[in-house]
Amino acid sequence: MRDLHSHTTASDGLLSPSELVGRAAEVGLRTLAVTDHDTVAGTAEAIAAGRELGVEVICGIEISAVTTCGRNIHVLGYFPDPDRSDLAGFQRERQQERHDRAIEILDKLAAVGVVIPPETIFDGLDERCSVGRPHIARALLAGGHVASFRDAFDRYLGPSGPAYVDSPRMTAPEAADLVQARGGVTSVAHPRVDDLDAAIAELHRQGVAAVEVFHPNHTNTDIRRYLGVVDELGMLVTGGSDYHGTDKGEGSDLGSVTLPEEHFARFADALAKA
Ligand code: AMP
Ligand code: ZN
Ligand code: FE
Ligand code: FE
Repeated sequence: MRDLHSHTTASDGLLSPSELVGRAAEVGLRTLAVTDHDTVAGTAEAIAAGRELGVEVICGIEISAVTTCGRNIHVLGYFPDPDRSDLAGFQRERQQERHDRAIEILDKLAAVGVVIPPETIFDGLDERCSVGRPHIARALLAGGHVASFRDAFDRYLGPSGPAYVDSPRMTAPEAADLVQARGGVTSVAHPRVDDLDAAIAELHRQGVAAVEVFHPNHTNTDIRRYLGVVDELGMLVTGGSDYHGTDKGEGSDLGSVTLPEEHFARFADALAKA
């Protein structure tokens, strides 16, 4: 089983890279791609743990970007050679911007009467962490301000909520270039979630090689439709559980969505040749 989408404490996941790989071994994954938001900072530790535990760990990233038509998109990047995946400058910039954004979100929450002290978010955070809205959603839940993790997005943190602040973004072609320049391959993450069907052909022309067809938020109908789209355009297929750590109703379990072998074989082949 191959799971090509997962998060660690280097972004908004709940497990450290080593813990995540331990869990991957437990559930019987042969391949796991670690794809934290805007950082590869957790991948070296994950790869080392994978060597110990017999799990093939792929160095990956999930970059927040925007299409040429102005739609938000997550671009997944996969690097065949972790030594060539140096993104230190980009990561440092994003880490700072995401930190400032978290403060801005807390200010907006305070303005509507929801006071969360910044220490609640930042104390105990992994020093590599690319902080995001899930950290704030967890604090809202722990503070009794919302009924569930999901409710935090519905009431406060989502695009129409009073505390919404967009994350820093580059354009999708820039994200594709950033990954390709380091020998990597890119995929459009969860296109159904971001309503990106109309953008896939253009993204392909801009250098995005694959579509994340298999994702927990995709129905069987979505999967059939996207398989048709990639077939027509000659794109690769990726997929995974988008695991963030299964806690208090957050998302799906590790390995619950995997990439079928025939698609993995083609993807691995392209990655090796990239
Ligand atoms: P950020 O990069 O800080 O904008 O956070 C994006 C992350 O927040 C996603 O990867 C999901 O983990 C989570 N997220 C975004 N919207 C929702 C939602 N409506 N319900 C639950 N989680 C969400
Ligand atoms: Zn996330
Ligand atoms: Fe995503
Ligand atoms: Fe993700």
